[in-house]
Amino acid sequence: MRDIVYKVLYHLKVVDLFLWLERILSWRNILIVQTYHRIVDDNSEVAPISILERGISKQCFINQIDFFQEHFDLLNLDDFLDVISSKRKLKSDALLLTFDDGYYDNLLCAYPYMQEKGVEGVVFVPTAYIHSQQPFWWLKLTNSIKFGDASRWPSALNQLGPLLPLDHLDALKKEALGSFESRREVRRILGVFLMNSTDDIRDETNRILDMLVDGNYVLPIRLMTFCELRTATKYGITVATHSHSHRDLDTLSYREQVADLKASLQVLKQELGDCPNVVCYPSGRFNVNTFNAALECGIEYGFTTKAGAVRYREPSFDPLQIPRVGIEAANEMELKRWLFGLIIRKYLMSIWRS
Ligand SMILES: [Zn+2]
Repeated sequence: MRDIVYKVLYHLKVVDLFLWLERILSWRNILIVQTYHRIVDDNSEVAPISILERGISKQCFINQIDFFQEHFDLLNLDDFLDVISSKRKLKSDALLLTFDDGYYDNLLCAYPYMQEKGVEGVVFVPTAYIHSQQPFWWLKLTNSIKFGDASRWPSALNQLGPLLPLDHLDALKKEALGSFESRREVRRILGVFLMNSTDDIRDETNRILDMLVDGNYVLPIRLMTFCELRTATKYGITVATHSHSHRDLDTLSYREQVADLKASLQVLKQELGDCPNVVCYPSGRFNVNTFNAALECGIEYGFTTKAGAVRYREPSFDPLQIPRVGIEAANEMELKRWLFGLIIRKYLMSIWRS
């Protein structure tokens, strides 16, 4: 029903009129931080086996940038930090573009278009992975399940047995890795399990699954090198820390968190000459120790995966817990729907608070 109402309003141009009026008359501007991971070339041969393996298509990204440019001031990191620390006032709705992990496809499919449009952004990189060019645990998992030798699956499953809960093991025993669907189901079950596991279990699982591919990583997904990150800065991209080891910070002690963040800042300074005093928490995980550890390292701003607009004028706003959004809308109608909803929520919240 909501879909139909929106489509009628959209086609009658009521949505356009509303967005136009809001832009002219708005008395309180919205500040948004958008998160991207991978930007996938539409002609890419990378068939998705898991939602974690891919992000959005290049065309979807281009549509979003065009839309954002029309409806928002696109800030760079310095301007964004000036706004949230009240050194600068917003003249209209504004948005900051952020990229997590530093995937190489960002350099191919996103940054050149941003430069063409005069748009800047930030990429958060886990420095140990950039150094080693080791794939993340979820990419290793995809690699071995997608390309693994099905005849070795029973043996791998045997070894995985002691690590897995019984219901997961029973579900996996029904799969033979014979078809794409079977591989996708195995990837899904193990992905969900490992997402909620410790780094040790993730490493051990991948060590066992490596036998399916003789330890070869052939998935065509990798992170940028430091040389490529230096090229990214020429496109107007600021490089900032996403920790050193991309471990869930809330599983580390206070001292381990300090050591991890310090190592990352040191590498960035060494490789790129400078780094901003911001962090993006890996997997959005943090605890109270994380804030103190960040401050001890000179980091004053932290980006989370909590969804929402940045309500920096409110007394409860914490610069170490900046929310972000992950807009997936791919075309103008969907993007206007997202913005329409955002503005309605803004006014409802204003009424609620007054
Ligand atoms: Zn990440």
